[in-house]
Amino acid sequence: MTLKFFSDKNRPVHLGPYPLERLKRQIGVPRLSRIPAIAPLSFHRPEQPESIVNAMGEYQAMMDALRDGLVNPARADIPSDPQERSNHLKAFGYFNDASMVGIGRIPDSARLEEARLNPDIGRLAHALMTRQTKTLASGIDLIMADLKDSMNAPPGSIETHSHAVVFLYEHLRDPEAHEPGCDWIMDAQDHRACLRSSETAVVIANYIRLLGFSAKAHSLSSTDVDLNQLAVASGLVTVEDDRLVAPWLGERFGLAVVTTDMDLAHDAPLAPMEFQPWRHLRGFDWWLGRHSSKNALNRDPFRNRRYVDGAYPFERLKRVDEPTTFIDEMNVARVPKRADMFARAQFGDMGKSVQDGAKGGHYARKSAPSFAQRRALGAFVLLQDGESTEGPRPADGERNAANLKAASYFLGADAVGLSRCPEWAWYSHDATGAPIDPPHDQAVSMIIDQGFETMEGASGDDWISVAQSMRAYLRFSLIGGVLAQQIRNLGYKAKAHTVMDGEVLQPPLLLLSGLGEVSRIGEVILNPYLGPRLKSGAVTTDMPMAHDKPIDFGLQAFCEACNKCARECPSGAITAGPKLMFNGYEIWKSDSQKCATYRITTQGGAMCGRCMKTCPWNLEGLFAEAPVRWAASHIPAAAPLLAKLDDAAGRGGLNPVKKWWWDIELQTDGAYRAANQPVNRRDLQKDLDLKYEDQTLAVYPAPLAPPPWPYPFPMDREAGIAAYQAMIPAAEYRKRLAAGDS
Ligand code: SF4
Repeated sequence: MTLKFFSDKNRPVHLGPYPLERLKRQIGVPRLSRIPAIAPLSFHRPEQPESIVNAMGEYQAMMDALRDGLVNPARADIPSDPQERSNHLKAFGYFNDASMVGIGRIPDSARLEEARLNPDIGRLAHALMTRQTKTLASGIDLIMADLKDSMNAPPGSIETHSHAVVFLYEHLRDPEAHEPGCDWIMDAQDHRACLRSSETAVVIANYIRLLGFSAKAHSLSSTDVDLNQLAVASGLVTVEDDRLVAPWLGERFGLAVVTTDMDLAHDAPLAPMEFQPWRHLRGFDWWLGRHSSKNALNRDPFRNRRYVDGAYPFERLKRVDEPTTFIDEMNVARVPKRADMFARAQFGDMGKSVQDGAKGGHYARKSAPSFAQRRALGAFVLLQDGESTEGPRPADGERNAANLKAASYFLGADAVGLSRCPEWAWYSHDATGAPIDPPHDQAVSMIIDQGFETMEGASGDDWISVAQSMRAYLRFSLIGGVLAQQIRNLGYKAKAHTVMDGEVLQPPLLLLSGLGEVSRIGEVILNPYLGPRLKSGAVTTDMPMAHDKPIDFGLQAFCEACNKCARECPSGAITAGPKLMFNGYEIWKSDSQKCATYRITTQGGAMCGRCMKTCPWNLEGLFAEAPVRWAASHIPAAAPLLAKLDDAAGRGGLNPVKKWWWDIELQTDGAYRAANQPVNRRDLQKDLDLKYEDQTLAVYPAPLAPPPWPYPFPMDREAGIAAYQAMIPAAEYRKRLAAGDS
């Protein structure tokens, strides 16, 4: 596990994980003449068909196709102070997991005479126009039109751009030749850094354009500027012996850039490494991480761990044969995709105000950061499924499992689990109402951390909430999509199931693959190292693979004794009562209608993840927290005390130091300006004594689900309340099953 000795609760997000602010800067313009020219990067390795680099190609081309776009003619009302703007954009980059972000002027010498364009964009455009797109995601026509425009548009000029925001992504340890699971990820560090930095640059360029300023993203595969020169000019790297060197990282990093005409404050160039303070660069402070979240011991989570094992010590978890909550596999009721609450909202099943909030994804568009993420998220839908090639079809299930896991961790997944994908985990009908005949029986489930730092500054239901979700959804769409393509390249079928277009229910797959246990929150599966602060995704396939087993880390006893999420839920959707059987699953069933209604219609923010924010398992990852986590997992009797202590310590409250986003909202003229309603900046409600008997909850089990076809089917809340009251505990359910009375 990553070692972190000091909390960074007093460190603003824009400073980033490295103590860059403690380094010496240089006065004046650095010499740019000795900077090595950027080397082109190809995503084609025909001689190595097993290399993951081949699978990254279309995703990189897609991001390169989206690096420019229309500028919102209605300019946003944002702070005019260039320093505040720079801090904001840096924090956005760190929110996206950049290692370092610097901002500098664009010297004339950094402008390329001729833009370098990714040749794969043309191939991708042709493939997309001719490929039978199977996706049923709503708004796919708009996505296709946007892409067509982007791919056919002449490259936009950056003449008016005078500022560059540079994103640096560090390399991880090089996989070793005979390391288990590393067959596919050898020699792919530059490509991985390019892919991940491009994701950030493309999103933030789109964000700046939505605010009404011109901006364009530049990657190693498509650029109008010399990334290396800009990295020097923005104070992220120095030139040492004709090589680019980043503090703490040396030459092991990749770059992407956003150029813009938005007025920004600049970072001064770094002084050469020989003049840097030793204690911050290599000494005691760096080893302990006294001034930063990164330190010498935790900088690379794979320094002393194998890729196949992931960054967290999952091997220490107790494995069990069955999930810790009962699943009546023979009687799980499959429901149509039309039963999903967001689909029901769009069809007006929950009334007009909810429908208006859901129409066209308004809940995501009303916040600028999430709307910026949405473009790539939509475009990736076009790549998440496809035809398999005549690949080598590796048949060794153990080896496939190791490769799938190591590749997912290498690309950036936070937790990965493998399991069967039973028929009952699939929806019964797709978005058109056509029956789904499950095409794959294996699943790779992944978890993406929503990020502790931003969660600390947020109430969970304010103006960053929706972007926290979308960031994780986008990350899975990228990583899961590349993995699915990799599997198809090897000759098997595979599809990534993303938030925009998925055909499986993820909670049961997370349980089967040992990624967590059922929590009081309801449909949220809680992971012992990330808590509930996560989004998940799955890749289904017919590739043979060894499976993981479910885990037991004592959560059932803990949630029995803790009611915090139910108490803090702004919509009162989380039960304060017992687990009950729903559609064949034993679960603390929440009122999804209340939850979805609040998330879609809240006025003081966009969406909600307050349950994740306030849960005692949402931990910073400090060394000092390990005994608490151990006690929570191993001493069930300690759960009430630990839950109380968590409250007493004020954990789950607001930390204003970590608030970096602006409270701006989409207005009717298309501009983002100050939010119309008071912002949801709620703190803990420690005095609220929530009682189960005072709650009125509704559920919509299979018999109350809408027909699979896309037309309105109003919800019958009275029937839903009655259905809640008719649910029974698992023990009673099993008794009835045994008696043949199910
Ligand atoms: Fe369980 Fe408490 Fe977390 Fe809710 S807040 S999921 S009850 S541990």
